[in-house]
Amino acid sequence: MSYLALYRKYRPQTFDEVRGQDHIVTTLKNQMKTGRIGHAYLFCGTRGTGKTSVAKLFAKAVNCENPVDGSPCGKCAVCRSIDSLVSMNVTELDAASNNSVDNIRDIIDSSRYSPTEGRYKVYIIDEVHMLSTSAFNALLKTLEEPPEYVIFILATTEVHKIPITILSRCQRYDFKRITTDVIAGCLADLMKSEGIAAEEKALKFIARAADGSMRDAESLLDQCIAFYIGQDLTYDKVLEVLGSVDVEVFARLLRHIGNGDVSGCMKILDEIMVSGRELTQFVTDFAGYLRNLLLARSVEDPYEVLELSKENMELVIHESKVADAAQLIRYIGILSELSNRIRYATQKRLLIEVELIKLAKPQMQDNYDSLIDRIRVLEERLENGEFTVSSRQAAGSDATDTRPEEEDPAPEELSKALPEDIAKVANSWSSITSAMNSKDKLASTMLSDAGAFEENGKLVIEFKNALDVQTMNFKKEINGETGPSRIDILKKVISSVTGLDIEIETRSAGQGKSSKGADIRKRVKFNIEKID
Ligand SMILES: [Zn+2]
Repeated sequence: MSYLALYRKYRPQTFDEVRGQDHIVTTLKNQMKTGRIGHAYLFCGTRGTGKTSVAKLFAKAVNCENPVDGSPCGKCAVCRSIDSLVSMNVTELDAASNNSVDNIRDIIDSSRYSPTEGRYKVYIIDEVHMLSTSAFNALLKTLEEPPEYVIFILATTEVHKIPITILSRCQRYDFKRITTDVIAGCLADLMKSEGIAAEEKALKFIARAADGSMRDAESLLDQCIAFYIGQDLTYDKVLEVLGSVDVEVFARLLRHIGNGDVSGCMKILDEIMVSGRELTQFVTDFAGYLRNLLLARSVEDPYEVLELSKENMELVIHESKVADAAQLIRYIGILSELSNRIRYATQKRLLIEVELIKLAKPQMQDNYDSLIDRIRVLEERLENGEFTVSSRQAAGSDATDTRPEEEDPAPEELSKALPEDIAKVANSWSSITSAMNSKDKLASTMLSDAGAFEENGKLVIEFKNALDVQTMNFKKEINGETGPSRIDILKKVISSVTGLDIEIETRSAGQGKSSKGADIRKRVKFNIEKID
C-alpha cells in the first residue's frame, strides 16, 4: 500500500473545506453561481496557503456537470476524469522548472483546440514569476485575447516580480497566511479522521512552527506521525521529532549575548545540543530571527514586511527593542559567515561556541563593528555609573585591583519608604521610566511596558514576561566582578528622586506565551548588594 502524504490525502474537495481564505472562496463561489467567470486569475501569497488547491478546485468547478453550491460535485464524469489526471481540460505547469518561451508556446498551441468534454480549458501556471521575459511576452498575447473557453490561473509567491502588463489583465486574489488557531483546528480534525489521539499543545506547536502555511503544518504532522507510528501524539514527542528551537530560546540567547553573559549562552547551546537540534539549521534560524528584529526596528510597518504569524510578530516587535541596529548588523554578519563555514565542518559545536563568545564579548575582536560595539558597552557603563577610572589605573601602575568604585555615598541616611510613598512612586511611574531613559534605554522600555503598584510595603513591578524579569535582574560582569543589575540602577534613580529607600519586587505577568510555566510564577526577590 503506497503512503499518501496528508496534504494530498486531505486536499479540500469543496470550497467550504478550504481553510482561512474565506474572502477568496466566497468570491469564486459567487462567480460560479452567477456564471461571471473571468479568463485570467492571479493567486498571490506565501507558500502553503492554498493557492494550488483553490486553483484545482476552481478548474474542476467550472467544468463540473452538477456543481453543488459553486463547488464541484466530485462524482460526474468530468470531475472524475480531472481527479484521475486524464482530463485534457486542466493543465498544470510549474514555471520554476519550465520557464522558457517554448513551454508557454506549447500551452498556447494546445489552447487553440476547444475542449472535447466539459466547458473550459484551465491552465494553472505555478510560480509564474519565474517565467523568462520572452515567455511573459508570449503569455501576454494570449491573455489579451483569450479564446472564450480558456481560463488562466497564475499562482505566485512573489507578486512584485510579475510584469505590470500581466497584472493589469488578471483578477488578483491575495491569499493570507493562515492563523495558528485555524491551522491547529484543521490538524485536530485531520487527526480525528486518522484515528490518532493528539495533545492540543502538540498540534498548537506544529501550527506555530508552520507559521501560516497549512501545507508545512501537514508535512510536519506527517513527520511526527511517521516517527511514532501507532502511538498518541504528545507535545514532548513533537519537540523531539521537530527538534525545533522556540523563538523564546532565540530571545533568551540574544539577551545573554547583549549582557555579555557567556556562560548563559553556553547553557542555551547545551539545551539545543541535548534536544538533538541540527546545528547548521540552528545558526541559520538564529540569523533569520535577528534579521526579523532588525527589520522590525527599521521599517514603519513591520506587519507589511515581515512574514510572520501574529503571535510571532508580537514577540519579535517586543524583542526588537533589546539590541540596537548596529549591534544586530554585527551579529548577523558574524552568523552568516559562520553558517557558510559550519556546513561542512566536523566540529560544529566548537565553531558555534567561539562565535557566540565573539558576539557576547566584542572586546575579543578588533574590527570596526566590534569596536563600535565595545564603545557602546563602555558608554552604557559610564552612563550607568558602573565604573570610574581611578588615578592609579589611569597611571597604568598596579592593576590588580580593578573593582569598580562606589561613586555614591552609602545610602544609609535614606529613610525607609512608607506604603503611601510607594503608592506615589507607582502613580508617577512615567516620570520614573523617563528618568531611567538616560541611564539605560532597554530598561526604560521594559519598565514602561510593565505595571507598578504598592503591595505589603514594597514596590511591585509586573513585567510582560519572565524574560524581562531576568534581564532587569541580570548582574553585569565588570572586570571580573559582579556589577549592579538594572533594578539596582532603578533603585538608585528612585532614591535620588524621592530620597527614600524603597524595596522592589519583580514579577512577570503570567501567561506570557513564550515563558515556561515555572518561570512565570517565580518571583524574583532581591536585595541591594552594595559593591564595596
Ligand atoms: Zn462534477
